Amino acid sequence: MPHEFSIIDQYFKPLSQPLDQGEVGIGDDGALLNQHANCQLVVVTDTMVSGVHYPEQTSAFDIGWKLLAVNLSDLAAMGAQPKGYSLAVTLPAVDESWLRGFTDGLQALAREFHLPLIGGDTTRGAQTVLTLSALGEVPTGLGILRNGAQTGDLIAVSGVLGSGGLGLEWVLSSQQDQMASEEVLKLNRPQPRVALGQALRQAGWIHSMIDISDGLVADIGHICKASACAAVIGLQQLPMSPAVKAYVEQQGYQLPLAAGDDYELCFTFSPEKLKEVHTIAQALGEQVTVIGQIIPADSNEPVRIVPDLNQSPMTPKPASHYLLKSGFQHF
Ligand code: ADP
Ligand code: MG
Repeated sequence: MPHEFSIIDQYFKPLSQPLDQGEVGIGDDGALLNQHANCQLVVVTDTMVSGVHYPEQTSAFDIGWKLLAVNLSDLAAMGAQPKGYSLAVTLPAVDESWLRGFTDGLQALAREFHLPLIGGDTTRGAQTVLTLSALGEVPTGLGILRNGAQTGDLIAVSGVLGSGGLGLEWVLSSQQDQMASEEVLKLNRPQPRVALGQALRQAGWIHSMIDISDGLVADIGHICKASACAAVIGLQQLPMSPAVKAYVEQQGYQLPLAAGDDYELCFTFSPEKLKEVHTIAQALGEQVTVIGQIIPADSNEPVRIVPDLNQSPMTPKPASHYLLKSGFQHF
């Protein structure tokens, strides 16, 4: 059985990439990375635990891809340019074909962004625990936070909602005919909206942004809490794949409102910027949809829902009216 250092050499070192002059990656006690002047370092970390963050049957390739993707999605939500990543793996045993698949999945996505693996840790433990930290950069003071939403802002999301959640239902119920569906693909290989996040940050007038990882209502709730405001969302406005639409007709809006695993961006801006938002998205081939508006805070639930934003004003209902549970929580 290969020991710790030959695992690092064989499987992890190949994911490093030539660094700039004076930089140091895998192999010393720490990595040394140069920073651009007037930039802040953005650091994000996500852990995936077998059976908690992905079903046991998930392929090693998909686990590697997703572990990096969820971190890049956090960087995207800050408007950051990704620079590299570090990886801590705890494994019950050395399974070389698993390691090969896992590192291939990481590399497939890392290559898209020319991201080097710059260090990490490799240990044995009772169960598989995978922790990845990604590093990025934003011009000092210009990272987009959750706390800048203003009353009257439009709320928009990238992509479609509920697909990852439907993919998960299909995987958990072993629906073999759906394994090649766009929903299962979205569950296993989410595409972090890195270019869109940066373009929105560069525009200079995005007030707040978050990535939707725990469910739309929960994540807009985070913006509302940080910005001391409330939000109203229109069900008719939620962008969904045909399969999620069909599901919603039978089962209600639980999936697009509250399922995790979407990894789309949700952001707010003044209504006069709407045309520019669409221009930015179009230039990148990204879909962006306005789903609601920021309203003043009051003492009730921050996220409210109406059937259709375009119909004459109706009293919005609290989101919990439409939900069984809002967003994934560990405890
Ligand atoms: P130390 O004992 O100084 O903490 P280690 O022996 O744990 O260093 O690791 C040796 C080198 O290999 C370090 O540069 C570390 O960053 C790197 N490394 C260890 N595990 C991984 C991994 N899973 N992915 C990438 N680099 C790793
Ligand atoms: Mg160590």
